[in-house]
Order: sequence, then structure tokens, then C-alpha cells
Amino acid sequence: MSDDETSDPPDESASEAFTYNGGRVDPGESANIRYGISETYLGDPVRIPVTVVNGEYPGPTVFLSAAAHGDELNGIEVVREVAHDWDHSILHGTLVCLPVMNVPGFLAQERYLPIYDRDLNRSFPGREGSTSARRMANQIFTNFIEPCDLGLDFHTSTRGRTNMLHVRANTERSTVARLAKAFSSNVIIAGEGPSGTLRREATEAGIPTITVEMGEAHRFQRRLIDRALTGVASVLAEFGCHRESSVHWPGWRTVIDDDDEKTWLRADAGGIVDMKRGRGQLVEEGEVICTITNPFKEDEDIVTVEAPFTGLIVGVLENPVVYPGNPLCHLVGLSPDTLTALERERTTERSRSDLRQGDD
Ligand SMILES: [Zn+2]
Repeated sequence: MSDDETSDPPDESASEAFTYNGGRVDPGESANIRYGISETYLGDPVRIPVTVVNGEYPGPTVFLSAAAHGDELNGIEVVREVAHDWDHSILHGTLVCLPVMNVPGFLAQERYLPIYDRDLNRSFPGREGSTSARRMANQIFTNFIEPCDLGLDFHTSTRGRTNMLHVRANTERSTVARLAKAFSSNVIIAGEGPSGTLRREATEAGIPTITVEMGEAHRFQRRLIDRALTGVASVLAEFGCHRESSVHWPGWRTVIDDDDEKTWLRADAGGIVDMKRGRGQLVEEGEVICTITNPFKEDEDIVTVEAPFTGLIVGVLENPVVYPGNPLCHLVGLSPDTLTALERERTTERSRSDLRQGDD
């Protein structure tokens, strides 16, 4: 301690070291770790990058994970920036940052583990002595998830589609609902999620966890990344990890039931899609969302797809080709109050951008 330090040292009575198999990070320390979770065909270690930021002050332990699907990159940047920017000197509690969980998939720029195309995000909590995917999941889960109190798992849409930033969470559990709201996305899709997903298995193991969905695979989308960083700061404020941040209110919020499959509009014809509307747009009932045409663009073969109800496009096709039955867009209905709030927000945004154009 320096001579001129006059303030009282922080109360560390409840601060704890973060420990994992073979290592520890003490309060007031940060560490970049490469942790072996498997071995390649050459016998080399498969190591995941982990940053642990253990705050000087006691508080909850929060994990932030990304790239359980190896080609979903937006979350990597979110977790990497949190790991880089948040310092233990201001933190109450501990951040466990896992920017790339599916290392073999990331190296191949593929969604699944290239080993028999296994889905790491259906393999949690994992098991010793089981398949390669479950062994990797088990290494991650026991060392870096189980010691945590809360979790945020970042994803993007599947390749060829994109989605607006939203949260998926089992809102029937009170702490999960609190976490989902604190992330301050406009849209929350409520449901427990498929078996074997990190958020469902962590939540069932007593670590309330949400999934954040944002944008498309193979991209860094700066606006979405910045929006997610605001969500992380808001969560850390809500749970007392950072006293200087405040909880963010997104302006409007809608909670949608995950089981409502009707909201996925699917193609009834195969062909080439001309998408007229995009991610995050509001469409009126009867408005044309897209057309599907044959290779010759012949008028008599054009299939027009209209919005069956007024709603918000949460997810949408990017790769403009479909077989019958392929999803075109994820359209969700909104309550009249939400619709009014959203329209007001859009009008304000438009007049702000008009003003900005006037300034130039
Ligand atoms: Zn994913």
C-alpha cells in the first residue's frame, strides 16, 4: 500500500479466490488462462481461452460465454471486450469470461464440433467417460460454470439468417427473469430451452442463465456488440457488481412465448427470395414481406408472402434461397401498448436522424 493511501481498504471478509482444477485467481487479481478441455488427432491440447477478473470487493460470480457454436462471432467480441475493459479494482464479485468455448468449430468456422458434427450446445452439462463433445462440455461446466452464480451465453442466428438482439430465458424462474430484464433487450423469448443447452442446464444446476441472440454468423456487427455491452453493464449494475453503472431501461419490452411456432413464417414454394423487410422492422397485417420466384422471374410464378398480422420481425432469412418449409422470418405480435411505444421510438429516431442530416 502506498503512503498516501488514506481510504480504508475494501472489506474483503467475503471476497473469495476463484478456483478451478489446477489454478486460482485471488480477489484483486485478473488472469488470462488457456485451459485444456480435449486433445487433437495429433495429441496436442485443445485449450479454451478464459479470462477471470476477480474483483477487490465481494459480490456474485458471473460467467459470460460465447461461440458454443464456432461460427457465431458477435458474442466473442462482446466477451473479449468485457474481459479486456473491466478491471478488478472497480468490481464487486468475479467475471469468468469464456469467449470461445467451441475451439475446434471456431478454427473450422463451423457451427458444430467438426468431430462427428456434434452440437456442443446440446452436450451440457457433459459427462466424464462419454462422447468427445460431452467430455469437453463437462470440462467447461465443472471448472468454469458451476462456480458461478449467474450466466450470460451469447449466440447469433444460424448461418444464412439474422436476428435482432433479443434474450431467451426461462422467465418462470424469478432470478432468470430478473437477469433477462436487466439485460434490457426489447424482446424476451420465454421458455426453458432445449435439453443440453448451456442456459437450460446451468439454470437447472442453480446458476440462473440467459441466452443473448444477436445478428448473424461470421460477422462482427458493431451496433449489436455495443448494444450487448450496454446490456452487460446493466446486468452488472442490477446485481451489484458495479456500483457506478445503472440499470438500463430499453424504452419498451415485449415477452413472447417460445412455444408459439405459428410466428415462424415458412415458405410454401421453393425458389429465390426477394426479401422486402429486415431485422427489427415493424410490418402491418397484409404488407408484403417477400416474394419467391423461379430462376426466370416469370410473373405467373411469383409467390407473394404477406404478414398474417401486424408484428415485429425478430429473425429473417439472409441467404435468399428456400425449399418449401424453410423459415422466411420470425414475426411476433405486439400488444397495443408495446406497439404504441415502439412507433413513438421509431418516430423519435427518424426525427433525430432528420435533424442530424440538417446539421451536416
Ligand atoms: Zn448458437
